[in-house]
Amino acid sequence: MTLPLLRGQKALVTGANSGIGKSTAIALGRAGADVVVNYVAGPEDAEAVVKEIESFGVRAYAAQADVSDEDQVDEMFAHMVSEFGTIDVLVANAGLQRDASVTDMTLAQWQKVIDVNLTGQFLCARAAAKEFLRRGLVPEVSRCVGKIICMSSVHQIIPWAGHVNYASSKGGVLMMMQTLAQELAPHGIRVNAVAPGAIKTPINRDAWSSPQAEAELLKLIPYRRVGEPDDIANAVTVMASDLMDYVVGSTLFVDGGMTLFPGFATGG
Ligand code: NAP
Repeated sequence: MTLPLLRGQKALVTGANSGIGKSTAIALGRAGADVVVNYVAGPEDAEAVVKEIESFGVRAYAAQADVSDEDQVDEMFAHMVSEFGTIDVLVANAGLQRDASVTDMTLAQWQKVIDVNLTGQFLCARAAAKEFLRRGLVPEVSRCVGKIICMSSVHQIIPWAGHVNYASSKGGVLMMMQTLAQELAPHGIRVNAVAPGAIKTPINRDAWSSPQAEAELLKLIPYRRVGEPDDIANAVTVMASDLMDYVVGSTLFVDGGMTLFPGFATGG
């Protein structure tokens, strides 16, 4: 089924050759958007995503860029404007983990995660905001000048031992998102976040790939189901649409209740 929610809109999804970004890019295409499929490595995977999006009768192409590199990000957005004319929706999704206890964590591990997960989102949001402001409102496309959706995590509010770089990056994403939302809302730009709980993707394969690991994980999820990438893709699609036009500076947790402090269901 093709939903017309985003018909005529131009979207860019970072880290779209895998996991949540891949499902999101496909969902936006299914909803009628033309889509830029960003990736950093793995062009074959990105091209496969492009093919799937094109099967919906919309345009798509793959764009290689490291989101933590200022020049590469600016070049990617400039190319998108020359190819598609503008951008209406940015999904700042690219992210990674480099896990270690604090005493073992190297500066390189800390820096890499902050660079990709936080600075990468800043660079992409800045480039998108510039284009939104240049182009202005096109009422027949959207009620809104532009949409930025930051891929956050339940770890924007849940501390996570052994992952101080990752949790700090997502805590930073929360405050970056809210600050940008406050700054850009008067210009008709909506900035929001989607915060997944545990979703089955390569980033956390160890947490769900064996029955024992999955059983442990399910203890943290009141809804007793590990999420799928489409759970997030569907939420992003609606968040990007005019159905959510009055949602500004919010985080939509898509987590099966992980942020409900499930340990308190029987304790406390
Ligand atoms: P994934 O399957 O590993 O996908 C991560 C994507 O980010 C990949 O496409 C990866 O590309 C890309 N990427 C990494 N570094 C990049 C860079 N420097 N420039 C551009 N792209 C880069 O993991 P995922 O679970 O879908 O994660 C997507 C987002 O969801 C992340 O922000 C993550 O923090 C967030 N999230 C995930 C979960 C979960 O349970 N899975 C929960 C909460 C939040 P390559 O494969 O080419 O490196």
